[in-house]
Parts: sequence; C-alpha cells; structure tokens
Amino acid sequence: MENFDFLHIDNSDMNIKIKEDYCKGCGYCIDICPEYVFKESTKVNSRGYELPEIINIDACVGCKKCELICPELAISVDKEEKKQ
Ligand code: SF4
Ligand code: SF4
Repeated sequence: MENFDFLHIDNSDMNIKIKEDYCKGCGYCIDICPEYVFKESTKVNSRGYELPEIINIDACVGCKKCELICPELAISVDKEEKKQ
C-alpha cells in the first residue's frame, strides 16, 4: 500500500474530475481548497449553475477537502498511476 506523506507528496500527477452536471455552483470547493486550485468561472452547466474552474492543478496536495465538502458528490481527486 502506498504511503501518504503530506510533506513529501509528489503532486505533479493529481487528477481532479468535476461532474459538471452534478454541480450546483455553491463554491464550497473554491473556498475550502488551501492551495487555491479552483476559481469561480462564468461557465454554466445544463442546470444553469456556475461551475468552478481548475486553474492550478499543480498546486493540489491531494487533501480531498474539495471532494469531501462537495454536497453534490461532483468532485473526485485521485493520484494518477505513474506511467512506466
Ligand atoms: S484535494 Fe485539496 S489541494 Fe487538491 S484541489 Fe482539493 S482541496 Fe485543493
Ligand atoms: S462544492 Fe461541488 S457543487 Fe459546490 S461548486 Fe464545488 S463542485 Fe459545484
């Protein structure tokens, strides 16, 4: 099992997915992210809600706070497998 070490995490290969049609534009993910990975955008989903935009994925430390706080289960954060 892979050790999860915040101090030494290689964050160059984080993968954040947003299921856009699940989003209700609350902005919680933007507010909670300690690394300012998201910002507000003017893009709207099929329900007319403004979506968060990922602007700084390289800063993501994989804490999953965004995933956990999203009331619509719209976000998933995973560490991609390294390509050999
Ligand atoms: S996992 Fe943590 S650092 Fe990465 S985008 Fe979500 S809240 Fe920000
Ligand atoms: S927390 Fe979830 S529902 Fe709220 S803006 Fe972010 S992705 Fe959308």
